[in-house]
Amino acid sequence: MNNATSNLPPKKSSRAPQVGFVSLGCPKALTDSELILTQLNAEGYETSKSYAGADLVIVNTCGFIDDAVKESLDTIGEALAENGKVIVTGCLGAKQDGDGQNLVQSIHPRVLAVTGPHATQEVMNAVHLHLPKAHDPYLDLVPRSVSAAGIKLTPKHFAYLKISEGCNHRCTFCIIPSMRGDLVSRPIGDVLAEAKALFESGVKELLVISQDTSAYGVDIKYRTGFWDGKPVRSRTLELTETLATIAEAYGAWVRLHYVYPYPSVDELIPLMATGRVLPYLDVPFQHSHPDVLKRMKRPASGERNLERILAWRKLCPEIVIRSTFIAGFPGETEAEFQHLLDFLKEAELDRVGCFAYSPVEGATANDLPGLIDKEQREERRDRFMKVAEEVSVRKLQKRVGSTMQVLVDKATAMGRQGGVGRTYADAPEIDGVVHLLPPQKISKTIKTGEFTKVQIVATQGHDLVGLPI
Ligand code: SF4
Repeated sequence: MNNATSNLPPKKSSRAPQVGFVSLGCPKALTDSELILTQLNAEGYETSKSYAGADLVIVNTCGFIDDAVKESLDTIGEALAENGKVIVTGCLGAKQDGDGQNLVQSIHPRVLAVTGPHATQEVMNAVHLHLPKAHDPYLDLVPRSVSAAGIKLTPKHFAYLKISEGCNHRCTFCIIPSMRGDLVSRPIGDVLAEAKALFESGVKELLVISQDTSAYGVDIKYRTGFWDGKPVRSRTLELTETLATIAEAYGAWVRLHYVYPYPSVDELIPLMATGRVLPYLDVPFQHSHPDVLKRMKRPASGERNLERILAWRKLCPEIVIRSTFIAGFPGETEAEFQHLLDFLKEAELDRVGCFAYSPVEGATANDLPGLIDKEQREERRDRFMKVAEEVSVRKLQKRVGSTMQVLVDKATAMGRQGGVGRTYADAPEIDGVVHLLPPQKISKTIKTGEFTKVQIVATQGHDLVGLPI
């Protein structure tokens, strides 16, 4: 043959290898999934929406509480039954059973490989081994169509930004450090570049996550990095200020999660008071009584949290505080529990979640004396939630009649029949929503992923009802 194509290698099948992906767990696990999916895409793998259509399935697991462990193990079992070729990653992958064997492998010995969390390269190595992608000399040099921010599993208008991995604390009820290791902060330049890429791709709300956002940079001694040719310290305040500046250029929101009440957090409040970042703090207090906090070995357990909250409110009256608590921790007396209820009433926390204490395999709290009956733990959780709901409903009612900015998560009927959105006070998935009525004016429509002004007309449980104006 003497034509132009005679030197080209033979054509290969056009079907790219298909990978099924199941992502379980918290937003931190979700960002791990996004990294793996981005890498798979960059290497030419495609994702399959069904077990049957996949050549291999990756399950990203959660191992935090018993229910999550069960869900993860069930999902692995389902993937093995439906597909047969399964790679497991995530927190459960790092867990051992009572004999020191890998828990996943001892229950599901047929899995092809198991890794812990935050292990993109290890997962990719396992994928290469069990589902090698055929080399395509035409396509392998062509960059894939992945945005600079990578693949996101969230809707286009909001995204999680993970600023660090792991945790230096050793809370006695928690096994995350044994699964995710000590704190490793991402270089500040990388974090800011990812944030900018996300805003450029249309993200209107950036949710900063980590295990301990206020500890950002501790492991690298708050090293100075560079962004946009300028030096920036790797510290929560400087990071948040710079994120706020970038977000302002795109008219977007920045929301902070998992902030511990260290004194340094006080420095963030003026940024919230001026509206540069959302006046919303997700602070996992877990308890209020100093002795319980000591038994929990909580970070910032010596801080006077109530005084601190009142001072934040003085400086930034609109601040919304979300928190999580544990009722019935080992040794919790009725007086300590009552202290927690009083704290809740005085602190007037806006959004709270509460778990009845449940022993987690491998946690040091299991060795503490004074395990409380399951029934009593649950009874305390119920009492706590009753008070929490009263506070939350009272605070929500104060919003009726006000005008608020809402980010529309879903608009119906071309934006003419209302939809669902959130105000600065509501983080996606964990807080309430605003049920949007059809817009007041016939000419007005609302659009998914865009902001709209809304008049709050009623409350509905933990949610609000609003009229786009
Ligand atoms: S701060 Fe405590 S609860 Fe949070 S990840 Fe670290 S050890 Fe676990």
